[in-house]
Amino acid sequence: MMNSDANRIGVYIHIPFCVRKCLYCDFCSFDSVGYELRERYIRELCREISSSGAGREVGTVFIGGGTPSLLSVREMSEIVSALDRNFDLSDDCEFSVEVNPGTVDTEKIRGFLSLGINRISMGMQSASDRELKAIGRIHSNTDLLRAYSALRDAGAKNVNLDCMYGIPGQTRDSFRATLDEMLSLGPEHISAYGLMLEEGTPLYRSVKNGSVSLPEEDEECDMYRIAVETLSDAGYEHYEISNYARTGYICRHNYGYWNGTEYLGFGLAASSFFSGVRYKNTEDINLYISGAGRRLECEQIQSDEAEREYIMLRLRTAAGIDQADFAAHFGRHFADGREGVIAKYISAGLLKEESSRFFLTDAGMYLSNGIICDLMP
Ligand code: SF4
Repeated sequence: MMNSDANRIGVYIHIPFCVRKCLYCDFCSFDSVGYELRERYIRELCREISSSGAGREVGTVFIGGGTPSLLSVREMSEIVSALDRNFDLSDDCEFSVEVNPGTVDTEKIRGFLSLGINRISMGMQSASDRELKAIGRIHSNTDLLRAYSALRDAGAKNVNLDCMYGIPGQTRDSFRATLDEMLSLGPEHISAYGLMLEEGTPLYRSVKNGSVSLPEEDEECDMYRIAVETLSDAGYEHYEISNYARTGYICRHNYGYWNGTEYLGFGLAASSFFSGVRYKNTEDINLYISGAGRRLECEQIQSDEAEREYIMLRLRTAAGIDQADFAAHFGRHFADGREGVIAKYISAGLLKEESSRFFLTDAGMYLSNGIICDLMP
């Protein structure tokens, strides 16, 4: 995380409501939720925030979901007021909210910005209506273009667009077209994720019963390479496996997760990591609303687990593992006992050692899961 955030915490707030579930989604979110349940949820969320003043400055806030942009400006202002009352938000606090292109207009975004929200993350996913339909998104490409104009008209100066590769029916060329459209819009930040086929989702069932097929693995790998090349050529820094930013616009909140910054999570299924302990709220919305579902799971991170997590998270980033920092955390050199594995991946061009840091190359990032497994203690 950037130096100014070193002693600050992050805050995550979960809004578990969507217009309709996307076919690939296994996030904790519900569709067709009535106004009354939503009101009760927000009331409990504000109570949870009010009961927890960490006494530390907050460097970043991220309101995610679900679809936070389903909330009205008044509902969002209740949440922001609860935060303001209980936490010391830094003057340069990065304050992000996720929006779905089917749920925003200029007036709503203007209202959100007036509350102090200063970063908008929008799920574009694809510029192809056929691909959007294949994954069950509620919006079309026309909706996306309208929503993007609305963000800019409202004065949003820090915008992320998400896209996906590996969508049913997607080709290298159609993915290139999505990237080209994103670049023509000129967001400050782009996230390009590989579609994850999650068990239990409608898409998973369709793929398993053969009614839908996904791009082949080599096609998906090419799409990752296309993203790296296209976005780097356009001046975006590839600073994490799936994330690219113009200078000065990395997502400080997510960067904090990858660098071990402490954070508090509020809302359904939200996780917290504080003083070496990980907490998780219930995923049962009725239990949560009753006030009994906070921090039900609690796990003290042991030193072996801490080292595994440190390696897994740091190697996701372009900065990788700093040897002095690793030694300060674990009292030994990162390469100790890993000499053979490290040499194998360096000679394969997947890992690099430079300026006292070990980091994955672009090709290594695509294969990160296997490499990181091999480097675990
Ligand atoms: S909008 Fe996001 S959270 Fe909601 S269903 Fe789609 S992928 Fe899941």
